Amino acid sequence: MSNQLPLNPARSDDPHYRYKRPSVTIRYSNSNHTHISNADALCKAIFRGKKILFHFFSLNFATQVNTKKDWIKGFQSSQLVESAIDQFVISYVLCSACGNPETEIKIKSSKNVVYLKCKACGSRTYLSNTDKICEKILKMGKKALKNL
Ligand SMILES: [Zn+2]
Repeated sequence: MSNQLPLNPARSDDPHYRYKRPSVTIRYSNSNHTHISNADALCKAIFRGKKILFHFFSLNFATQVNTKKDWIKGFQSSQLVESAIDQFVISYVLCSACGNPETEIKIKSSKNVVYLKCKACGSRTYLSNTDKICEKILKMGKKALKNL
């Protein structure tokens, strides 16, 4: 069973904070893979798709990932995976103005700019276009946004 964690790690002391995600459930296979057993539930809770989260894992752990089988290559401790998820949420999910996680990734194609559009306050959080995740989003293009 997994615990519920606050999406925004800075709100861990707030009992009224309503945005939660399950803690990561990990299984190690003989083939030297770290399987995220609850990747779907996790992604749903953080409002992002697996492709982008696992791409972040691959950069963060400098290794291969598989989004069909939900694994990260090598032995990654649950502690490190949890902290990677927190980092991902802070950088690519939370609105920088109000902290709400209900944001959508948008591309301003004329300028090759990626930003998070907040559904709560309407603010835009711009990603640096030297950011590797931003590069990936631009490469995948607008059509892929729905699945991000
Ligand atoms: Zn906001």
